[in-house]
This record gives sequence, C-alpha cells and structure tokens, in this order.
Amino acid sequence: MKKIIITFASFLLFVVSFMGFNSSIIAAEFISIGTGGPTGVYFVVGNSVCRMVHKEAAEGRKSGRKHGLRCAAPSTGGSNYNIGQIKEGELQFGVAQSDWQYHAVNGSSKWEGKKFANLRAVFSVHPEPFQLIASGSSGINSFGDLKGKVVNVGNPGSGQRGTMEVLMKAKGMSMGDFKQATELTSSEQVGALCDGKVDAIAYTVGVPNGAIGQAIDGCGAHFVDLNSDAEKKLVNDNPFYAFANIPAGTFYKSQKKDAVTFGVMATFVSSAEVSEDIVYEVVRAVFENLDDFKKLHPAFANLDPKQMISNGLSAPLHKGAVKYYKEQGWM
Ligand code: GLU
Repeated sequence: MKKIIITFASFLLFVVSFMGFNSSIIAAEFISIGTGGPTGVYFVVGNSVCRMVHKEAAEGRKSGRKHGLRCAAPSTGGSNYNIGQIKEGELQFGVAQSDWQYHAVNGSSKWEGKKFANLRAVFSVHPEPFQLIASGSSGINSFGDLKGKVVNVGNPGSGQRGTMEVLMKAKGMSMGDFKQATELTSSEQVGALCDGKVDAIAYTVGVPNGAIGQAIDGCGAHFVDLNSDAEKKLVNDNPFYAFANIPAGTFYKSQKKDAVTFGVMATFVSSAEVSEDIVYEVVRAVFENLDDFKKLHPAFANLDPKQMISNGLSAPLHKGAVKYYKEQGWM
C-alpha cells in the first residue's frame, strides 16, 4: 500500500513539473477546429493552424515560453455545422463562410430564432467564390437551365448548401424544379458529376481546389456564370457578398473562358466562451508564422494581416485576438 502511495505521489510530482507551473502560459489543453470535407480548403486551413500551434509549442519548450495546447482539425460538414458545434461547446474554433458568420450572429436566414450572440470572429482567410459546375453533356449554361436536371445542392450544414438555398430563393426556384436534388458532400460530388450521376454541383471553395480541377480538367465540366440581376441584387443588398472572377486557363488548364460569379470570405471563428489566453495563443501562432502558413495552400498566397483582421468579419472580434492585434499595432 505504502509503495502505491509513494508511486502516486511521484506521479503527481511528475505531472506538476511537466505542466511547468513556473513558466507555462497555458497548461495542457485540447482544442478542436471544425473544417469541411477532406478535399476542400477548410481542411487545410484547420490543419495549418494546428501545425503552427504545435510549432510554437515546440519552440516555446526550448525558449521557456511554454504553452500546452494540443490541436486537432477533423473533417466536418462545413460552415453551419461548425458554427452550430461551437455554439454547443463541442468545438472551440471553426472555419465558416462570411455569410453564415453574419447570419449566425444576427439570427437571420437559416439562423432565425437560433441567434448565436457569443459567436466571435478571429480572422478571415481566403476568398471563396460560389461555383456552379455543370457536366459537358448536361446542356446547362445558366442557372435557369438547372430546371428538370439532377442537381447536387450539397449536404445540410455545408456553406454551399445554405448559399445555394439563398440563390434559389432569389431566382424564384425550389427543389421541386429539379428532376432530383441530391445531398452529396463536397468530397462525393465530383465523382458523381464525372460519372454522369448528377448534372451539376455547387461548391463554395477557395481557388484553386483539387476537386474542382478534377471536374474541369479531369472530365470536361464547366463553370456556369452567376452574374444576372438576381446575383447583382444579392451583392448590392448584402455586405458579405462580392463578385468574383476565376480567370480562364489560370488555375484550371481546360477552363476556356473567365467564370464570373459571386462569393464570400472564408473566416476563422470561435466563441466568447473560449478563454482569451487560448485564442491569443492560436492567433499568435498563426501570425508569427504567417509566411510558413501561406505556403501551405496556393489559396493562401495573398493573405495579408491588415485584411485578415477586418475583411468579411461581422461578429465582434474575440478579446484574445484583439489583444494580439493591438500588440502588433494593427488596431
Ligand atoms: N465553404 C464550404 C463550407 O462552408 C467549405 C469549403 C472548403 O471545405 O474549403 O462548407
């Protein structure tokens, strides 16, 4: 018995010294970041953030500036799923489209009656055009041509599903106008398009994206322009939408003409319930290593701190983020 007590006491001593009571900023703590499908850019955002958090933890162990954050960024259903899980306290961070950040914090659109007042903006990442892509054999060249076709509207919880519903409403169309509306995830939909199981897919995603490349270059699909009066009204009426252009032959070799559509920003969000110290450490890890971060995906190439702390952010900034941005003289 005595032996067990001694063993337990030395174990406790070990834990206490491991936590580095004297110099650690945050003791061991686990954080999860909600992303999107495994073939999207959100998955790279979340895992790149974790990579920088772990890099800072390793370097801090050498310099004495210790933090014990451990980070995971699993694949999820996307924007609205992530915001919902942050609200439930199941995730501490998530990536979300700027339109859904706006609606969640204001209790509008899909978030009517479910307002998430504690949603906090942390920073914005890359632009995400809303992309409608039709197969070569579908004969679809405009949004109206989707009538009577098999259209993948996306899985519930994804950003594209929500934005597709907003666009359908703006166009006076309903699910009943399609021959069939499928709910495949972002990682399932390109295979279905190339196999002829669906005629068109929608995806709000950063440029370039491997899955989109597979559709355009791999099986001859094409972008459908989205720049008629309905889209102009959406862009005019809503601060979180802007027109976007995907230039011909630049990101996707077989793309013959520029694609014109509207889009949003990908944003990194959290909750006021997550501690200031944790958010500060995550933000610090990203911005202290921004040059490395930018190399992790071509969609991050133009990231600029001044824009990242303001573009597409409608929820209040988290206190922990504000602390770092003020220290840097950015605010
Ligand atoms: N915008 C998509 C969504 O909100 C995800 C895009 C991605 O995974 O990169 O669900």
